[in-house]
Amino acid sequence: MNIAHWLARAALSHGSMPATAIGSHIAHDYASLGLRAARLAATLRAQCEPGDRVAIFAKNSPAYAEAIYGIWHAGLAAVPINAKLHGREAAYILEHSEAKFCFVSKDLEAEIAPHVPASLRELIRIASPAHEKLFIADAMPVADRGGDDLAWLFYTSGTTGRPKGAMLTHRNLNWASHAYLSEVNPIPPGAPVLHAAPMSHGSGLYMMPHVARLGINAVPESGGFEPEEIFAMFRALPGTSMFAAPTMVKRLVESPADCDPSLIRTIAYGGAPMYVEDALAALDRFGSRFAQIYGQGESPMTITTLTKEDIADRDHPRWMERLGSVGRPYACLEAKVGSADAPCLAPGEIGEILARGDVVMGGYWKNHDATAATLNDGWLHTGDVGAFDADGYLTLKDRSKDMVISGGSNIYPREIEEVLLQHPAVREVSVIGRPHPEWGEIVVAYVVGETSATELDTLCLDHIARFKRPKDYVFVPALPKNNYGKILKTELREMDERKARD
Ligand code: AMP
Repeated sequence: MNIAHWLARAALSHGSMPATAIGSHIAHDYASLGLRAARLAATLRAQCEPGDRVAIFAKNSPAYAEAIYGIWHAGLAAVPINAKLHGREAAYILEHSEAKFCFVSKDLEAEIAPHVPASLRELIRIASPAHEKLFIADAMPVADRGGDDLAWLFYTSGTTGRPKGAMLTHRNLNWASHAYLSEVNPIPPGAPVLHAAPMSHGSGLYMMPHVARLGINAVPESGGFEPEEIFAMFRALPGTSMFAAPTMVKRLVESPADCDPSLIRTIAYGGAPMYVEDALAALDRFGSRFAQIYGQGESPMTITTLTKEDIADRDHPRWMERLGSVGRPYACLEAKVGSADAPCLAPGEIGEILARGDVVMGGYWKNHDATAATLNDGWLHTGDVGAFDADGYLTLKDRSKDMVISGGSNIYPREIEEVLLQHPAVREVSVIGRPHPEWGEIVVAYVVGETSATELDTLCLDHIARFKRPKDYVFVPALPKNNYGKILKTELREMDERKARD
């Protein structure tokens, strides 16, 4: 089934309901969003073959929804590109995906224009006269697409090497949307969702379930992430939900601006570790309005979820442990922990997390080797390491490549980071391994905050085995992060190597 049907149906049945908003202003109702998508589809379809790729390199806006639905309605595949990428990086994705067209927001045109590959037919500036002309064709019916057809080429954040295009099909998006509606956020018709995180990534995946439920897809007017503006949008659109990376939740928690938590329906956090200290602070400030999701581009936003009920269940004897977990697998997939010698490890045993089901990607675009290395008999090898507990809750340790091996013992940085963050003066922390002639690697903590190595060492001695304690503490003003706000351990290790050489 073509995922675009949800919008086409909403346009027929609930045309006057608001569909998109910018700030507190409604930009489209369902009739106008549906009509514009159907007209855009007709224009694109006249120039493309089914399955052709069309890219979007734009900041969040209501026009994003028009573009992506127009692409799907036409039977084409969308290639959303992170708006924070350098023009050259974005051009790599255009070339690799062989996109025929690319929608670009005005502010990004100069970034990409000098690097546009020959394979691209046209760069279409959103809101230009040329863009507006795309909407004058007669509307076409929703193109026929099967579950296996490509809908979204989801380029990974590329923390190591070139980004890879995870091929997400209409079936994958359908399941991811239902998983959200049934397990993360069962919203009523008309519920708003605020896209403060990039629509090219996780937040964009929440557009579809909100269209399915006739919700309002809203974006902040500034295009940025300012807690005051986010709180103002909660006031303008009561009952709002949003996806937020843990760093965004932290900024909301620390903002001195006023916010009435009862205006928030659900904040789904994920995409990077949420430390228990930070989760507790978030619950203190906003109450039980949080759900956690764990997923990756290859199984979009959908591997496990720690539900709102789990997070609210403070009386449960293992509540705190659960808060540090990523919850249980979604109903739509199988998940297990395995290793090279044991395809399925017992609860408590640590290994790689594997997932299989209708939400898992078909493979990587034009990258047979990476596909073969990642998908085996339908099982997605996530590259994340973790363990299930006896109740079926999964706790992530780290990415396998981030594990530290010191004196033959495996040490998981996350465990040490959780401890260090309990110190009130520590704002951020990242633990890595540093090569060492005797131990293989030693544990090193990079810390943002005003405290001392002695104090942190005492804290570690109180909480974790001696061999796991950092042998060195490096105090820095900030940690290197990628465009999604994820800490770049690879870069930190390189920094550390340079520091050791100097
Ligand atoms: P991406 O494909 O760029 O969204 O990155 C996915 C990766 O982010 C996963 O493989 C995990 O390493 C990490 N991740 C996603 N969700 C969580 C979470 N809830 N807690 C910790 N790490 C997460």
